[in-house]
Amino acid sequence: RDAMQAGRDYAVFAPALDQEASRRLALMGELRHAIERHQLALQLQPKLHLASAAICGAEALVRWKHPLLGQVPTFEFITLAEQAGMITPVTHWVLEATFRERYAWHMAGIELPLSVNLSAHDLRDPTLLDKLKGLVETWGAKPGWIQLELTESALMVDASAAVETLHSLKRLGFQLAIDDFGAGYSSLGYLHRLPVDATKIDQSFVIPLVQNEDCATIVSSAAQMAHKLGFEVVAEGVESQDALRRVTELGCDIAQGHFVSHPMAADQFGAWRAASPWSSPASLAH
Ligand code: C2E
Ligand code: MG
Ligand code: MG
Ligand code: MG
Repeated sequence: RDAMQAGRDYAVFAPALDQEASRRLALMGELRHAIERHQLALQLQPKLHLASAAICGAEALVRWKHPLLGQVPTFEFITLAEQAGMITPVTHWVLEATFRERYAWHMAGIELPLSVNLSAHDLRDPTLLDKLKGLVETWGAKPGWIQLELTESALMVDASAAVETLHSLKRLGFQLAIDDFGAGYSSLGYLHRLPVDATKIDQSFVIPLVQNEDCATIVSSAAQMAHKLGFEVVAEGVESQDALRRVTELGCDIAQGHFVSHPMAADQFGAWRAASPWSSPASLAH
């Protein structure tokens, strides 16, 4: 009976596994050409400074639109690129696009930090620092133009090597943020050694915040600890007015999420900001 049951399970699950495996293979093959075929794009998601009710920056998020497969979920192809050893060219493309965008902000008089995500593998990329140095020179980037977001779990892969790399990045003038804070397994012991400017509290605590008191406790404790260590606190995944009010009460400095804005095409940011209720500190008067 067991064998029969196993056979039946196999019959049920094999096609699904098969489909998954062939999608992965197809995506890997296509990803190799995504850059030269101009299929990658940046979207920007604004960040709202709570005390001044003003937009204080944005995060660059990469998008891949394949002509036949359509929009490929970012987390899916980033993970795939990491596993297939293809993350470096993707990251370099994203960094180039981010610096170009930040320069366009500068020309438009928008002097806010633009954040960009690095993956765990990027921290071990021996060409990363030179790539960044080159981009700083090419675009005349000022210190504070670009913030680099690194997930807590990426930093944990090799914490002491990460600390060194982060110091080098700081010396080049970058702001640094710990992304998905609380979602990785925190080793609190190394946190105070990280030369970072901000922590982004993971959306898994922020999204349920309004209904779930435990999540509220976690957010408030994480915010308190981060402040004591000298970090600015960003809440990610703020989806409603209530959540915005709650993260403010719980001590977060900055909110990011669908309530403020969904990610948008990079060239829409300036107009969006000018038309938003958060275009300037004056909106506090309302
Ligand atoms: P992340 O850096 O934590 O980015 C936040 C993710 O949450 C984004 O998903 C964003 O669209 C989504 N999000 C924003 N506000 C809300 C909200 O209110 N509710 C919900 N449910 N979701 C919200 P996205 O763009 O699909 O990216 C997923 C992850 O993929 C990112 O998480 C980041 O880890 C990674 N990623 C994105 N772009 C890049 C990139 O250029 N390079 C690398 N290495 N990783 C990237
Ligand atoms: Mg991020
Ligand atoms: Mg995050
Ligand atoms: Mg995330």
